Amino acid sequence: MKQKCMNCGLVFYPTKNNYVGYPYIWHRDKDIDSSPARTFHSRYCMDQFLSKHSDILIPIFKQIKESEDINNARTRENQAERKQATSP
Ligand SMILES: [Zn+2]
Repeated sequence: MKQKCMNCGLVFYPTKNNYVGYPYIWHRDKDIDSSPARTFHSRYCMDQFLSKHSDILIPIFKQIKESEDINNARTRENQAERKQATSP
């Protein structure tokens, strides 16, 4: 698919079967197409964009991490509760 780099504007063509573009997401399942998520043409452009907008992005990253931690803790609690409920 045709993509325009979010940092430098260069047009590039990430596909399911190539390694073009970042962030590159490796999937064990070869049927998953992660190429639409590759919005930067190079690692350098991704890093530059992240650092340029770090004052906005880092707090968002932290929020995502916090809610991920909360969800993981909930999942562990639910699993522990289910184990208790099934044990005699
Ligand atoms: Zn670029």
